Amino acid sequence: MNKKRKLSEIRKKIEKGTAVVLTVQELIDRISEGEKVQFEDIDIVTTATKALMSGIMGIFSFRLSPPKTLRKFTEVDINGIPTFPGPCPNEYLGIVDLIIYGTAQSKTIENYCGGSLFREIVEGKSLEIIAKSSEGENIEKEMTIEDMQFAKLMGTRQAIKNYYAMINCESYAVDTIFSCLPFEPKTEITFSGCGALNPFQNDPKFETFGVGSPILVNGNIGYLIGPGTRNYIAKPNMMAIAPMLGMKPEYMGAFKTSYGLEPICSIAVPIPILNERIFNNIVKFDKEVPLTILSLVGREKVGEIAYGDVWDNNFLIKFVPNACNNCKICNVIDNCPTNAFIIIDGKITAINRSRCFNCGNCARLCPEAFKLDLKTIKFENHEIPVVLRQSDRYGAIKLAEQLKSMILKGKFPLKKPTGELDFAEQVK
Ligand code: SF4
Ligand code: SF4
Repeated sequence: MNKKRKLSEIRKKIEKGTAVVLTVQELIDRISEGEKVQFEDIDIVTTATKALMSGIMGIFSFRLSPPKTLRKFTEVDINGIPTFPGPCPNEYLGIVDLIIYGTAQSKTIENYCGGSLFREIVEGKSLEIIAKSSEGENIEKEMTIEDMQFAKLMGTRQAIKNYYAMINCESYAVDTIFSCLPFEPKTEITFSGCGALNPFQNDPKFETFGVGSPILVNGNIGYLIGPGTRNYIAKPNMMAIAPMLGMKPEYMGAFKTSYGLEPICSIAVPIPILNERIFNNIVKFDKEVPLTILSLVGREKVGEIAYGDVWDNNFLIKFVPNACNNCKICNVIDNCPTNAFIIIDGKITAINRSRCFNCGNCARLCPEAFKLDLKTIKFENHEIPVVLRQSDRYGAIKLAEQLKSMILKGKFPLKKPTGELDFAEQVK
């Protein structure tokens, strides 16, 4: 018989302090240690992903001049990033509404994109705003997030049900968003996806979350607003929105690839275990989650492995200062995609954990000083090394733990969705 429990019963258990909430990682660890976990043992699992998410944008509204002075603002740059000022609000209010894409590049700051800006906004840093009105008047202003009437982060395509591994099957190196260095032919693999921890992977029929579901976006409570772009049932993704005030910088930022900067975003979703089918759908091992290998140029499928081949408790990079030879030229120092090294007197002294993405690029370049088991993949009878992870499973685990803690403390609103997610069978 299909066993069931109601969301209201779970809420009562949370109030009484008797609810059992586990991150998917905790569930995997318990099962791997031989524990038998059943429907009865668990009320909610928390899922999460932390990855490059090209489709994110910031939506802002703030005052640039007193009312009745200027008609409209037609051009606005923030920290040198050109924005899209909207038609609203209309005429002589002195307020501007605008949108900034996470991938937009600054004209004045090197290696600085919308993703870098969103992180600095959340950190409370002062922003330099240069605007032009329809009358041709220039305005320069400094402000922080506290001065903004509206600052939200939205995404067109978030938390995709895992992603792909990439190999370059051409005969030449390619600059691409899928690699930090030029992607060499046939000798290296990169991949994205948090595997077993991904929200859609654990609720493949979207039975527990949907339109209007509260979720965590970069550590702050936001809402799932519907399916994202290029959705289809086998590769669903979501659109979400959340206020920037209250987000945590460590879950966001920018990632430098050999083809430019990409923004980072993190999403966590609770899955209430309402029946045995939902429990059975929760991923118990990474080896259950397929990972398709695509050829970088053309994106044809060239192989299939599992996330268990690339994720195996190898989540956190370690720096061993004593193993650093203090080389005359350090080939790692300029090659961290998130600028995560703490450098004193020109030498790496530590990793800034709030910025590190655990991507592995430093371990690939200097395995003496950086320790990480990046794994190798059997491909066409060769062992090909994984050289880069473009999802941060360690960061996703932290976010899933934060969601668990908020649920147990009654600080996260557990609600039924107001509408179902609707996905196409195929992309048109
Ligand atoms: S981190 Fe590696 S490459 Fe850089 S100085 Fe130390 S040993 Fe040399
Ligand atoms: S793993 Fe290394 S290269 Fe990657 S973000 Fe962390 S410190 Fe930078």
